[in-house]
Amino acid sequence: MDRPRVAIFDFACCEGCQLQLYNLEEGLLDVLGLIEPVEWREAISDQSDSYDIAVIEGSITRKEDEERLKDIRKRAKVMIALGACATIGGVNKLKNQFDFGEVRRTVYGKDAEAPHLDTARVKAVHEVVPVEVKIHGCPIDHFEFGTILKSVLAGKTPSIPNYPVCVECKKKGNICRYEYNEVCLGPITRAGCGAKCPTGGFWCFGCRGLLDNPNVDAAKEVMDIYGKTVDDLSGRLLLFNNQS
Ligand code: SF4
Ligand code: SF4
Ligand code: SF4
Repeated sequence: MDRPRVAIFDFACCEGCQLQLYNLEEGLLDVLGLIEPVEWREAISDQSDSYDIAVIEGSITRKEDEERLKDIRKRAKVMIALGACATIGGVNKLKNQFDFGEVRRTVYGKDAEAPHLDTARVKAVHEVVPVEVKIHGCPIDHFEFGTILKSVLAGKTPSIPNYPVCVECKKKGNICRYEYNEVCLGPITRAGCGAKCPTGGFWCFGCRGLLDNPNVDAAKEVMDIYGKTVDDLSGRLLLFNNQS
């Protein structure tokens, strides 16, 4: 039986999620045994317009990128958004809260008016084209990538947690970051990372995106108990969950 043809494309991002794929090490060989990679700039020099699954890394920051993405979408049966830049716009969306002229002048100085510099709002992939599967995180977890890809190849719906990071954090027996007078986004952020940041002594900054239906009331209750305000929370949300 022919292996599904898979193409990996990158847009605006640091390409750290693609790098995570190499961390599969021997597991990468398992994955490569199940698919035929036909385009993957970081790994092979081949390019192809014919593929079954398109994996998109990065956020969409220019009008020409939107056209490129739509073209990829037309060719792919399944589209997978890889990492926070692709699934939620990621840190690139910080740009959306500023005046674009100011952003251009700050970054490019005297070249700020160059015609190729776009003023488009930064978008996640699903804001431009339909996406079947999202692999969350900044960066993604390579084991989760392998598990999700195998589900997709088997024609199944991948199991992606829709409960808060707090659940995993409690299971690990961590002391809550609120006890350290910090604000943590764990109560409203999608689990699946094993509560990496609180376990490592940091607050969760929401890189896996918000839950489908975050329990905002419960999050507010936690904030009240620890004397924090919604503004404290909103400031934290800007890094990864800027809704503009
Ligand atoms: S999600 Fe994070 S690690 Fe992945 S490409 Fe974007 S910035 Fe890099
Ligand atoms: S708020 Fe943060 S530190 Fe506290 S339990 Fe939830 S994830 Fe853990
Ligand atoms: S704890 Fe939060 S910020 Fe850290 S990896 Fe998990 S979802 Fe991302």
